Amino acid sequence: MEANAQRHEWFGAEVAAGGSVNTELEISESYSSRNVSIPIRVVRGLQDGPTVFVTGALHGDELNGTGAIRSLIADQNWQMLAGTLVMVPVLNVLGFERHSRYLPDRRDLNRCFPGNASGSMSMRMARVIFDAIVTRCDYGIDLHTAAVRRTNYPNVRTDFKNAECMRLAEAFGAGVILDGRGPKGSFRREATNAGCPTIVVEGGEVWKVEPSVVECMTRGVNNILKELNMMEGDLEKPEQQVKIRTTKWIRAERGGFLDMHVSPGSIVASGQPLATNSTLVYEDHSVLRSPFAGIVIGMTTLPAAQPGEPVVHLGRLTNRKSARRVEKHALRDDVQRTAQEHLSTSVQVVEPFVIPEESP
Ligand SMILES: [Zn+2]
Repeated sequence: MEANAQRHEWFGAEVAAGGSVNTELEISESYSSRNVSIPIRVVRGLQDGPTVFVTGALHGDELNGTGAIRSLIADQNWQMLAGTLVMVPVLNVLGFERHSRYLPDRRDLNRCFPGNASGSMSMRMARVIFDAIVTRCDYGIDLHTAAVRRTNYPNVRTDFKNAECMRLAEAFGAGVILDGRGPKGSFRREATNAGCPTIVVEGGEVWKVEPSVVECMTRGVNNILKELNMMEGDLEKPEQQVKIRTTKWIRAERGGFLDMHVSPGSIVASGQPLATNSTLVYEDHSVLRSPFAGIVIGMTTLPAAQPGEPVVHLGRLTNRKSARRVEKHALRDDVQRTAQEHLSTSVQVVEPFVIPEESP
């Protein structure tokens, strides 16, 4: 804890107690021999405390986190009491410049950590980020969205076995927490391994700043700062959060246009229709059903699929009773209810098609 509390110089800029500074971390050099750097804002409370990073756009096309971090920066009333917050609106600047998830060498930066100073371009970049930011922080929050052509109901992903990660996840207050350490080479897994417990937050779609997702993310970041005594005030979170260990992508069995019967955040019973594929003239209905009681944590926004393509991402709930409890608590929480309402506007939800009786 607070390993670097005495060092307040961030990439050449000194941050005074109670002050903030905009600075830049140089991570590479461009083809035209210019410096490539990441713009960063560092905010410091009057008192000493933990150092926390919050990152957006590690995948360069995932901008809800960028929107959330920018709205915290823009908020004139936003104040921190203690510790240091390192705010990185766009971590993957080269991907962001191209509206792309990936770096120009087609690598996924989120599989390159902790990086390698003599490796590929991406590995070197990851190493600089890791050494300059992660090794100086006590905790981390990494903000993401669903991949292209999909959307996610806001959720936190973390390692249930790691008590400090769970503390962050529960404080964030997204309503849904998924178990997992993350893939090898991912920012959160390697940061956590290196002694900086880090959670991932997923919400919404690429290439957008969605107000309900931003609201969930800013509330969550503030909650974590309150939990760590870096900010004043009570945590604002749902009475209960559902912890999910098993998730499953429900995939199309047939090619064709999709009618969706659920939207992000929907609670479903075992056997409930999720989506129906049919031909463009509404023949050959193939109904996809839920294999268990669950919650829709992600889904396609493209209303057409070929066999094997992912349609709905379900988090497994223990039973119908727990599903009803999750539904009740989500509806009582303004932020989750608003997210459900807003995200449902990305898909047309229709009743399952009933095949008419043959006329005599
Ligand atoms: Zn991502």
